[in-house]
Amino acid sequence: MSSGNQANSEANPFRALPSVDEGRRLLDGCLDGLQDVEAGREAGATPDADARLGAIPAAVRTELVQQELDALRRRIAKDHLGAADVEAEVSGGGFQAALLARARVEAGRGVRSAVNATGVVLHTNLGRAPVHPEAAERMRAAAEGYCVLEMDRFSARRNERDARLGVLLSRLTGAEAGIAVNNCAGAAFLMMQTFAGGREAVVSRGELVEIGGSFRVPDVMARAGVRMVEVGTTNRTRAADYERAIGPDTGLLMKVHTSNYRVVGFTEEAEPAELAQLGKEHGVTSGWDLGSGRVEVEGTRSLEEVGDETVVRDAVATGMDVVAFSGDKLLGGPQAGLIVGTRDSIRALRANPIYRALRLDKVALAGLETTLELLLAGRGGEIPSRRLMHRPEAELAESAARIAAAIEALPGFTAEAIPERSQPGSGSAPTVFLPTTAVRVSAEGRSAESLATSLRAGEPPVFVRIHEDAVLLDPRALLPGDEARLLAAFGALV
Ligand SMILES: *Cc1c(COP(=O)(O)O)cnc(C)c1O
Repeated sequence: MSSGNQANSEANPFRALPSVDEGRRLLDGCLDGLQDVEAGREAGATPDADARLGAIPAAVRTELVQQELDALRRRIAKDHLGAADVEAEVSGGGFQAALLARARVEAGRGVRSAVNATGVVLHTNLGRAPVHPEAAERMRAAAEGYCVLEMDRFSARRNERDARLGVLLSRLTGAEAGIAVNNCAGAAFLMMQTFAGGREAVVSRGELVEIGGSFRVPDVMARAGVRMVEVGTTNRTRAADYERAIGPDTGLLMKVHTSNYRVVGFTEEAEPAELAQLGKEHGVTSGWDLGSGRVEVEGTRSLEEVGDETVVRDAVATGMDVVAFSGDKLLGGPQAGLIVGTRDSIRALRANPIYRALRLDKVALAGLETTLELLLAGRGGEIPSRRLMHRPEAELAESAARIAAAIEALPGFTAEAIPERSQPGSGSAPTVFLPTTAVRVSAEGRSAESLATSLRAGEPPVFVRIHEDAVLLDPRALLPGDEARLLAAFGALV
């Protein structure tokens, strides 16, 4: 781009840049007048989106102006903008619009409520399991005020913060005792470090998994100070392989659930009961990182949707000394790592000074206790993640039909309900697909990517799947009220 204006083409374009003060005046003008100026376009926005914009502090507004000025300077250098181009940018409103866009990004960042239209119930990037309203209420109360945390209020004696949770875990899983840490990665680390720190852990080559991001079993073992002894092969490992590897320095026989993939075909793995038995014979702890934590309770509909995921109670019944699983995967509670097992093993975990660095806070504990109490009371069916996995196909089809009709009625959009499949998510049951009805949406003159980007940036943020250059909305993981929020987000795009 170059200036068409002869007089200004000679002028220094950097001199044509507005001052920071001028930029601030333009930005303040936008933010203060937003409610009026944008009233028409912002029909679908929640009031607090505007309130957040208005609340951007002065120092941050200045920072945003400086960032935009820097961006303009880079464009001058790179795109050879002339002074007239810069002036046109400012007088034509482009500069002001860019400032407002920066302010929207600033005010829209952070952990905030979103609509999950991906159909993935346990979506790690969207916060995994939504907790039951009663759990959320007790979490709020614990956060807002004082709570009974490390004291038995009936005897006034100090006790462990997860004492109650341990009792609930025993009732739920049949284990002697339980302990809670920040997440299952922390649970696996604590298990390795406690039983095999400075010593050896024996693990199958078929179970050296990467769970996501940087959690890779061999790397975690190394950081826990554990010498890893690999046995067997990728597809076949037998109990005899573990037995041959046991020596004077062996502290742990470890089994890791291959949560996010399956080896199929000519495969064999050691029976957990055999590992547990081997451990007992050789005086070595046996531990199982189960990952997803499928819990079944009599009187509550089974989570048969997730196929071959091991039930925690069954894992405990194999005789393994310790079993670790997540609180926010199939269990349906807040983020946590839970370990159940024999009284002695749990005592050893608790005595490890690292436990202190991994233990749960009062808010998560309050939410977990409530989630476990609901399960034990036969009310597991009310836990949102379980309910979403069990959603009847007819209910999903009706929801999809309503959404499709409402979007089809918007100018520039086409929408149709189509048969699709959802996934449980979070690496649980990777081969399982749950039948659903999704809505395929396309917008005139827009790519699916561009539509998805606008939906993410909107209020509320909406997350979708993209398939064959169309946006797919899967109603499976929509919570009460989300259908209306989703449609408001679409309305705001028109
Ligand atoms: C998910 C998973 C983890 C990590 O759990 P977080 O709760 O996300 O820390 C560890 N091990 C296995 C086998 C898992 O499936």
